[in-house]
Amino acid sequence: MKFHKTNTDFFVPDGLEPEAALARTTHLCIAAHQDDIEIMAYHGIAECFGLKDKWFTGVVVTNGAGSPRSGIYGDYTDEQMQRVRVVEQRKAAYVGEYACQIQLGFTSSEVKTPPGTDVAADLVQILKVARPEVVYLHNPADKHDTHIGVTVRAIAALRAVRNEVAPRKVYGCEVWRDLDWLPDEDKQVLPVSARSNIAAALVGVFDSQVTGGKRYDLATAGRRLAHATYYASHGTDVETALTFAMDLTPLVRDPVLSVTDYTLSFIDKFRADVVRRIGAAG
Ligand SMILES: [Zn+2]
Repeated sequence: MKFHKTNTDFFVPDGLEPEAALARTTHLCIAAHQDDIEIMAYHGIAECFGLKDKWFTGVVVTNGAGSPRSGIYGDYTDEQMQRVRVVEQRKAAYVGEYACQIQLGFTSSEVKTPPGTDVAADLVQILKVARPEVVYLHNPADKHDTHIGVTVRAIAALRAVRNEVAPRKVYGCEVWRDLDWLPDEDKQVLPVSARSNIAAALVGVFDSQVTGGKRYDLATAGRRLAHATYYASHGTDVETALTFAMDLTPLVRDPVLSVTDYTLSFIDKFRADVVRRIGAAG
């Protein structure tokens, strides 16, 4: 495989040859930044952990440039910081026993600026070899523009290969915005109670992000606990941690379905639910 950026990092924790490592993939996450995967797609990591017939692959599209730095990283140059982030992502892949971890090394503007052909082409290459059964993307109602850029490029790539690669499920996941507002019948409820030790370690290895005071480790665990507790107002909680996702599979199956219209259809249902409940109370 030949990728567009010379700084593409292809890491295989167990040392298998890269293409063979990618070909064993069953669960694939395509995310914008280092640490996004571990926040949004722990469901897929846990589904595959320690198994020989299920493998999780992570793809980070951007190069980690411009990330905040403090503490021991305070005087690092941007290049040094990018290197730190690549290494941290490799650590997560090792802890999570991923099939492989690919870091494509694009700048944020290369991802966000249309048409993003090179990004989509790299993703097409990966999809053709990985042939995933389940795909995890950022959700299109996220508030980080680079996340939206990656999702739009990933949907374009999935549409381009839809006749040869047909994942049974494509999830849009939570990072910079929760999905608790989705109507319950539309929530893709992903249980993530398994191995809270591994879940904690996976976000914890990103020391450069946590050390500046942004406690992504605690916040991510807290969001999962809150979702498990507040998901249903009756009954006791079977799961102690949940993540929510939007079903993006229809966007891949139907290549002319507008991403905007599809996303707004959920917001319209949320709006109607609020109107109905207030109306019912008089
Ligand atoms: Zn991110």
